[in-house]
Amino acid sequence: MTMSKYILSVDQGTTSSRAIIFNKRGRIKSMAQREFKQIYPQAGWVEHSPQDIMGSVMAVIAEAMVRAELSPEDIAAVGVTNQRETTLVWDKRTGKPVYNAIVWQCRRTADYCEQLKKNCSGLIYEKTGLIPDAYFSATKIKWILDNVAGARERAQEGGLLFGTVDTFLMWQLSKGKIFATDYTNAARTMLFNIHTLEWDEELLKLFGIPRSMLPEVKPSGSNFGVTHKSVLGAPVPICSAVGDQQAALFGQLCTQAGDLKNTYGTGCFLLMNTGEKAVKSNNGLVTTLGATLYGKPPYVLEGSVFVGGAVVQWLRDGLKIISSADESEALARKVDGNGGVYVVPAFTGLGAPWWDGAARGTITGITRGTSRGHIVRAGLESIAYQVADVVQAMEKDAGIKITRLAVDGGASKNEFLLQFQSDILNCPLVRPEVVETTALGAAYLAGLTVGLWKNEDEIKSTVREGREFTPDMPEEERRRLLSGWKRAIRQTRIL
Ligand code: ADP
Repeated sequence: MTMSKYILSVDQGTTSSRAIIFNKRGRIKSMAQREFKQIYPQAGWVEHSPQDIMGSVMAVIAEAMVRAELSPEDIAAVGVTNQRETTLVWDKRTGKPVYNAIVWQCRRTADYCEQLKKNCSGLIYEKTGLIPDAYFSATKIKWILDNVAGARERAQEGGLLFGTVDTFLMWQLSKGKIFATDYTNAARTMLFNIHTLEWDEELLKLFGIPRSMLPEVKPSGSNFGVTHKSVLGAPVPICSAVGDQQAALFGQLCTQAGDLKNTYGTGCFLLMNTGEKAVKSNNGLVTTLGATLYGKPPYVLEGSVFVGGAVVQWLRDGLKIISSADESEALARKVDGNGGVYVVPAFTGLGAPWWDGAARGTITGITRGTSRGHIVRAGLESIAYQVADVVQAMEKDAGIKITRLAVDGGASKNEFLLQFQSDILNCPLVRPEVVETTALGAAYLAGLTVGLWKNEDEIKSTVREGREFTPDMPEEERRRLLSGWKRAIRQTRIL
């Protein structure tokens, strides 16, 4: 019997679900993608319907299999990667969610987190490596237990389960057989001690969350169990679960201390592998865990920008001044410079390095001569400036100068953006041939676990160089633009 040669990667993202089938060369055999509804019940709140999440996942799995013309026997393993922090609570017996998924972007617990920041910052940072914020899962779980009728009692009786999206997916795909997560997802809940690698009793008490709600935590590349036969037609092992950003870090093969990447998705996420050392941040970054196949996971330093590619969605769907994300590139190129305009897209506050939940967006520098092109360009440039602020924070914390940055994500296909990023950072950027590094990372982890690849070296031999962007901006112009950005940030934070 020949060994199955493909990995099915399920990438459950913030705005869409994707299924990608990779071959042994790490190339895409087939892909399917489905966007799903974003629910905004009130200002600053963001939810997803759990049925939409599952429905879109099942649909893309089926579509990718049909397109690839494969049968379940061809799939060596399934890998799962997911939007992180997004919180689901469901009934252990029926599988029915008690509330919608509360999305990472949701600010509903921001006021409570302000108190936490005052009283418990030290404790939470020491244990979890995180800055208390509504972004992480803990206060979202607490909100569900406090606000859904009867939820706390049911949870205390052991009747409810909590999961980030990876856990929910594996539970659903196995029809309730798998109740597990991995280190990278657990590390984002604000309930997991990243030093002892255990759920933290003191934090569970602080948030009033019963231990019985929590899944088992494993390395990202593990034998989690098998899919129910109804999913693919026959049971297939699930051999990885990994948070999207750590998946991308692995997908870029940033497996050594000092390796780093930036992903341009809905948000932007700069992650650096720091190996065995948990580097403490003095500059607003968080310390978290990376993907591993066995033993202790590596530590990772991370800076996140809440609104990255999402600013382009806002230009398209909110302002309606572009008709597609792709159009932003041509429009930005049409104007000669930003015309003095800066957009600070602090729609849900500012993330690293500012952590200002109260900040709201601004457009500054508008004159009678400001055109649609200027606003679009300023929107794209805002992505690069925010990333530059995080890069600077990381250089300070890690005590190194970043000399090369691996990039990926949906918005990384915008070459205006990447060139501007390289100019503003004064640093070369490298975009791999396969920019689906999130799905690829989950596939690598699953493939290594199941033995499709012997080791990382075998994977490395399959990687082809992508495109490099090198800085091409006079120093004086860079300084002028960066000081304009700093001024715009100051104005945003005063409001
Ligand atoms: P996620 O996994 O967070 O859902 P993706 O990696 O799929 O995100 O990237 C989607 C984001 O990329 C969207 O916010 C979208 O606006 C942005 N995007 C897509 N194409 C472009 C483009 N050509 N230029 C700029 N942004 C883009």
